[in-house]
Amino acid sequence: MKLLLVEDEPALRTTLMDYLRQSGYVCEVAGSYEQAREKVKLYEYDCVVLDLTLPDGNGLDILRALKADGSRAGVLIISARAALDDRLAGLDLGADDYLTKPFHLAELNSRLRAIIRRRQFQGHHHIAFRDLLVWPEQAEVFVREQPLTLTRKEYDLLLFLLANPNRVLTKEAIAEHLCGDAVDSADSFDFIYTHLKNLRKKLQEKGADNYIRTMYGVGYKLSMD
Ligand code: CA
Repeated sequence: MKLLLVEDEPALRTTLMDYLRQSGYVCEVAGSYEQAREKVKLYEYDCVVLDLTLPDGNGLDILRALKADGSRAGVLIISARAALDDRLAGLDLGADDYLTKPFHLAELNSRLRAIIRRRQFQGHHHIAFRDLLVWPEQAEVFVREQPLTLTRKEYDLLLFLLANPNRVLTKEAIAEHLCGDAVDSADSFDFIYTHLKNLRKKLQEKGADNYIRTMYGVGYKLSMD
């Protein structure tokens, strides 16, 4: 899962970023309103963790921009402003949740998981797809009831496909999802092909059906049929 963390306070930003990366998220950061605007314009995220008080603008305007663009990203506001007006304004504009600073890291993670579960997996704790069963919170995958061991990238790739059934995902979109903005410095997207090949091989070895389809010249699709 790919996050954008918008927070101008450097020490807090680093703490949150380290924690979220350790928790298995691909986490990009923006330290200002301008940086955040630029990132949400260029990239797609599963969830944006959004501070409201930024030195060069108001986080609520980032939320407005996301909604105006029809973004699929969830939004979790983190703010020291506990005022009811701010909370209501954020939620009225379409934020998924609101966390008042200071908060415990475990609570941040638990609220993020709830947002992702609601938005991408219809509120379910597990994802069942044909012969697959995935428990995202434990990062466990079963094929025909047998456990499947995947690398982090293979697992992220599988989850990205499962969150987008029947939708063609371009190599660029997959690369961005797996690596965040580090992908801008990659020479090619060949590494996507390698992860995909390994994922398919592992699924096949457990007797899974072949539902990851290659759309030649376009990308990949998780086929429902
Ligand atoms: Ca701030």
